[in-house]
Amino acid sequence: MAADLILGKDVSEKIYANLRERISVLKSKGIIPGLAVVLVGDDPASQIYVGMKDKKCKELGINSYQCILPATTTQDELIAKIRELNSDDKVSGILVQLPLPRHIDESAVIKAIDPSKDVDCFHPFNLGKMVIGEAELLPATPAGIHQMMVQSGIKIAGKHVVIVGRSNIVGKPLANILMQKDENADATVTVVHSRTANFTDLIKQADILIVAIGRPRFITADMVKEGAVIIDVGTNRIDDPSAKNGKRLVGDVDFDSVKDKVSAITPVPGGVGPMTICMLMNNTVIAAEMRVKE
Ligand code: NAP
Repeated sequence: MAADLILGKDVSEKIYANLRERISVLKSKGIIPGLAVVLVGDDPASQIYVGMKDKKCKELGINSYQCILPATTTQDELIAKIRELNSDDKVSGILVQLPLPRHIDESAVIKAIDPSKDVDCFHPFNLGKMVIGEAELLPATPAGIHQMMVQSGIKIAGKHVVIVGRSNIVGKPLANILMQKDENADATVTVVHSRTANFTDLIKQADILIVAIGRPRFITADMVKEGAVIIDVGTNRIDDPSAKNGKRLVGDVDFDSVKDKVSAITPVPGGVGPMTICMLMNNTVIAAEMRVKE
């Protein structure tokens, strides 16, 4: 039986429709959500990400403020810029595009963001609220993965979810979101990583297998349980002489072999990818709504 394809584009369209309504409610109250994106230096990949966020803001009617600073910016200058944005009422959300140049301590910069404007949800205050189930803002990629499953009707409660990868931006927060006492979560979560013993035995037990390791086509059909749900977070550019630019984007899962064994799967590209920016926009609207309630 062919697996269902879970497509981030379809799920994100539903979320964008809801966001458009909420943005118009805010506008009727004289509030326009605003996202400030701070970019230090001229890394081409970061410039592309910043451009995509700007375009999406404009499509939705969110004000987009781009703060492009030279690579020579000092940590103190960057933190001063963030403080200025913290006290700017037009700015609902602040995002510092990572990675930062090596002379700047990312952790110190993230901690300088007002937690109520921390739309990436990297601030320890917001991560702590997430852990105790009191989050207003959630990290974008994990929240996007959760929403993908909820909106696609995948039952999470009571299921054994195995997450491969324990990064601070995907694996760890996702484990917390899925284990919350909530009818849309309530999973039993196992997190595995490069030091896990019995790695394959554990992932073979997964009802829902979520892979975020950055290793092209690492998970093969023999490693997954029949009928499992597979969420592939990996984005790996591999050589492909038949492609126009000689490169191809693939996930951490060997899609072609795995798809015939499982009940549902996210492709790469087109799976998780579109959800991250969608949840960033969602966080920006939440941050603006939080200001109305203050
Ligand atoms: P990361 O910070 O490099 O973390 C990778 C994790 O995978 C680590 O926990 C590492 O284990 C584990 N790992 C690596 N090789 C392994 C192996 N052979 N066996 C078991 N575990 C292994 O990566 P990340 O930032 O979470 O990103 C992971 C992937 O997701 C990347 O391809 C990234 O591009 C993609 N991603 C996509 C989106 C999106 O929007 N679609 C967003 C974020 C990330 P240790 O901790 O033991 O080293």
